[in-house]
Amino acid sequence: MSLPHIEALYDDVPLDRRMARASTAVRRLVDRVLDGEVLDLDDSVTLLESDGDDVLALIAAADAVRKADVGDDVTYVVNRNLNFTNVCFVGCRFCAFKRHRWEPEAYNQSVETLLAKVQEAVDLGATEICMQGGINPEMPAFTYRDILTAIKQAFPTIHMHAFSPMEIMYGARRTGMTYADYLAMLKSHGLGTIPGTAAEILDDEVREILSHKKVDVRTWVDIVTTAHRLGIPSTATIMYGHVETPRHVAAHLRLLRDLQSATGGFTEFVPLRFIHTNTDMHRDGLVNEPPPKGMYDLRMYACSRLLLRGAIDNLQTSWVKINHQLAQLSLNAGCNDFGGTLMEESISREAGADAGEYTSVEEIHRLVRSVGRRPVERTTLYRKLEPTEESTTRGSTTAADGAGGRSRSREVPARPHPIH
Ligand code: SF4
Repeated sequence: MSLPHIEALYDDVPLDRRMARASTAVRRLVDRVLDGEVLDLDDSVTLLESDGDDVLALIAAADAVRKADVGDDVTYVVNRNLNFTNVCFVGCRFCAFKRHRWEPEAYNQSVETLLAKVQEAVDLGATEICMQGGINPEMPAFTYRDILTAIKQAFPTIHMHAFSPMEIMYGARRTGMTYADYLAMLKSHGLGTIPGTAAEILDDEVREILSHKKVDVRTWVDIVTTAHRLGIPSTATIMYGHVETPRHVAAHLRLLRDLQSATGGFTEFVPLRFIHTNTDMHRDGLVNEPPPKGMYDLRMYACSRLLLRGAIDNLQTSWVKINHQLAQLSLNAGCNDFGGTLMEESISREAGADAGEYTSVEEIHRLVRSVGRRPVERTTLYRKLEPTEESTTRGSTTAADGAGGRSRSREVPARPHPIH
């Protein structure tokens, strides 16, 4: 279904009418979520397999739940990505970013280069540096610590959101430290949060297909929960649209839910569409034609909002993976966060994504306001920053802004079961 066609379906149809057109099975499941229940695996799969009017009902319900639980503001963070090396020996088959060290495009950025890029970001108002790289076999053991130290010494107030669980595993092995000691060391040198990437699908059979050498589920969980317990929050992600089934997705969401109940350390959930074009998985015929962009993605976002209800409040759209227009539509499918400005994004671009590398604050404001919502800058940890005079003037002008762009005949109560 094309995007204009989908947009037409977003007309002001109240939740009750959307629900009335859904199948009995989906209607009952959504009602249970609206009542604050947590669905089991089979019921979650039913939602993730839905189509037609059922998906539209899910989207409307996710939008209502988002409004009830976190309100109408759409947050974003001013950040810059730093991918300090693309040299990697892991060989994930979904990754078009990696290079062997002998390839002409291989790079390792010096600390001086990184500091210059952080300075550029700070000059543009960045509060966060998001830093990840390839797993370079020639990296000195304490490189991650040393990069952190250099950046934090020069820019003490910048938030360092850095090093995936895969990098933490590698860094700990290279230094001979336990995960706890290694993470504690990074924290003492300025690490603020870690990206919950390298999650892909948290199922070892699927991971074996995606990447034989990638961090396994048990280790990913160990590293993330250790970080949380040390006071290092993380994001949570999923990579969808390749060889996974709805049951894999349901189990992934359930695992994240359970981890959040144990630690409370996830700040947000970010569904990431698999970009196939330049990957080995596409070349090898494992993913010939991924699902078309549109309802498939919106169903993923809507199900994420419903199935993580009461566990992870912040659902981030990924403009870099699905493009600006679909990201706007996802704001009415459960999302309350537009992600970051990024400024420099090479992982998705190398894989074939076409949304660009940088979305300015002005562009984020325009995109968010044009769907009737209010953009609000936040920190990495979701503290909302005071709006500037300019954004106050332009951001809260009409009643429609506060209504989230959709009329409703049914009030959804805020979630009844907070997890802590
Ligand atoms: S996803 Fe990360 S670990 Fe895997 S090949 Fe790419 S850079 Fe290496």
